[in-house]
Amino acid sequence: MGFFSDIGKKTSETTSKIARETKLKMKINENKGKINDIYKEIGEKVYSKHVKGENLDIKTDLNEECSKLDTLCKEIEDARIEILKLNQKKLCQNCSAEIESNAQFCPKCGQKQNEEQPTVKEEALEKLENSDIAPEKQEEAAEVKEELKEEIANETENNNQ
Ligand SMILES: [Zn+2]
Repeated sequence: MGFFSDIGKKTSETTSKIARETKLKMKINENKGKINDIYKEIGEKVYSKHVKGENLDIKTDLNEECSKLDTLCKEIEDARIEILKLNQKKLCQNCSAEIESNAQFCPKCGQKQNEEQPTVKEEALEKLENSDIAPEKQEEAAEVKEELKEEIANETENNNQ
């Protein structure tokens, strides 16, 4: 029984991973299309300035287009990173090659990979330490901080075994 339900679980995990990856790839393609449209608009704007014999100021004339491009590019970047994560991969911090997410050195350029991104708990602790806490909540916050620190220390120990 367990064997078959395990297979069922694995299959549905794989299916949802593929579905997620497909969605992300669609998002990337969609954004690429939008980027091309904006490039076209920019081109037309530049040429019409030329026809009128006017100068073009990127900051004022193309501000809207450029900030839209920034957003679209950022979304593509995020989607790419998420796809890598789905496949247990990451980018080398030096040469941006695709490498295994647990690799400590890049097989391509040899660069040592720094520690992983902070965990949720580490981020929570940092937020707690950097925020203003009302005096009556100080004690409670200190307790939570201690708990978080302990849990993080335990996790780090487990990872190093
Ligand atoms: Zn590298």
